[in-house]
Amino acid sequence: MSDEQLNLGTDDHATTLRRAWERALHMLGNKVSKVTFESYIRPIRPLSYEDNEVALGVPSAFAREWLDRRHRSLIRATLESVLGTNVEIRFTVCPSEQRQLTLISIDDGRPAAEEPRPKPAKPATLPAGLTESPLVARYTFDSFVIGRSNRLAHAGAQAVAEAPATVYNPLFIYGGSGLGKTHLLHAVGNYIIQNNTNCRVVYVDGENFTDHYVHSLRERKTDEFRRYYRSVDVWLVDDIQSIAGKEQTKEEFFHTFNALYQTGKQIVISSDRSPKDLRTMDERLRSRFECGLIADVGAPDLETRVAIMQARCEHESWSIPDDVVYYIAGAIQSNVRALEGAITKLIAYSSIMKCPISTELAQSVLGEYFIDKPLPRHLRKGVSAEQIIEAVAGRFGTTAEAIVGQGRSREVSLARQVAMFLCRELTETPLAVIGASFGNRDHSTVKRAISKAESLMDADPALAAQVHDVRMRLER
Ligand code: ADP
Ligand code: MG
Repeated sequence: MSDEQLNLGTDDHATTLRRAWERALHMLGNKVSKVTFESYIRPIRPLSYEDNEVALGVPSAFAREWLDRRHRSLIRATLESVLGTNVEIRFTVCPSEQRQLTLISIDDGRPAAEEPRPKPAKPATLPAGLTESPLVARYTFDSFVIGRSNRLAHAGAQAVAEAPATVYNPLFIYGGSGLGKTHLLHAVGNYIIQNNTNCRVVYVDGENFTDHYVHSLRERKTDEFRRYYRSVDVWLVDDIQSIAGKEQTKEEFFHTFNALYQTGKQIVISSDRSPKDLRTMDERLRSRFECGLIADVGAPDLETRVAIMQARCEHESWSIPDDVVYYIAGAIQSNVRALEGAITKLIAYSSIMKCPISTELAQSVLGEYFIDKPLPRHLRKGVSAEQIIEAVAGRFGTTAEAIVGQGRSREVSLARQVAMFLCRELTETPLAVIGASFGNRDHSTVKRAISKAESLMDADPALAAQVHDVRMRLER
């Protein structure tokens, strides 16, 4: 008998089951995510144990489906290891008071109360002439690259997908264009559908919702419209800002939102700005949005941009040399969509023209995408040596004091060389004056440092891209 196993001989069955479940619960806590545990596993109540079948009470039909599909085998294996015998498990919906009435004795002869499964109703559809927006299969959590700029939004979306209508409701994701909001909404939908085929997931963007509503008004089909939108279990609403100025649509959205929210349905919303900046949005709606989790997505840093490009290349089986990846990721900074557009164009061009992919090719083909490329020197805004030193220190993991100081560790020397290089590139300052900003170094030391920075960047595209990144930020 293992340490986990119970001694079945000494207890009555009800106590055995209760003790077994306590142990199983403890073990399950280490095997599933915290969200899953708190949302689905902890609320389970053991009901009966008879003929090698354990009945487990769960709070809702939704939880039953979810547990059945995703966690049945784990829960069964855990209970088996505790009980030391094979068992079947059965999830039974029962209201919370009943679930709190502790265990039903296995000897009372009554079958455990099972709610009749609701007959699957004919799914409500949109009024004729309107179409649903399908989920894009490629937009999944697996294909989403996590970085500092999107970590919170990703975590919120993942938690919502694992436990809809339990943790964050509504989830509100906002940020600039091309930064992954739509991708995350679809990822939530794809994940839920994959794990629970009975769950009705509807994705709509603000424009479509408006069109659907206007069409229904015109065709006198608002009842059908409402039936459709109010039968949703998980509602993914993209680009909500586009309904902000439309009074009637906003009102309808508000009622749909309330109807779903009050019946415990999950709502995920995206917008190009935060709730407080949605100025023409009704105050009632803004405050509703603020009840859940609000997460922003920002522009990805260089490493994330490179990882996104590499992931995309791997997915499409494209082979792009690293220096080209760094070159493009260094130049296109604020929009992942533009980054993807650039690679697609480069791949197409190289295959049509039958020429290898190189930074030169990227340079000549992708001019239009390089919205962030440096301005001619005479148009650049003034940047001071201090600003450059600060920016380089931040990017290279050191401090401004170290850069202007006397230390000669590899990291500090590199940061100093890069900062001097950028001073020459971005300011009109003579080398001797640059030297003065770097702890009174002389003209020839600055010159040597700049040559060194240049040769290091030539040999290392990742470093070149990092420097490029700092430079772009300074020039913004
Ligand atoms: P938004 O809705 O914020 O305008 P999208 O979700 O449409 O942006 O993203 C634009 C493109 O960039 C999509 O193809 C998406 O897959 C991709 N993308 C954005 N962020 C990421 C990321 N973190 N990882 C992988 N792909 C991303
Ligand atoms: Mg979008």
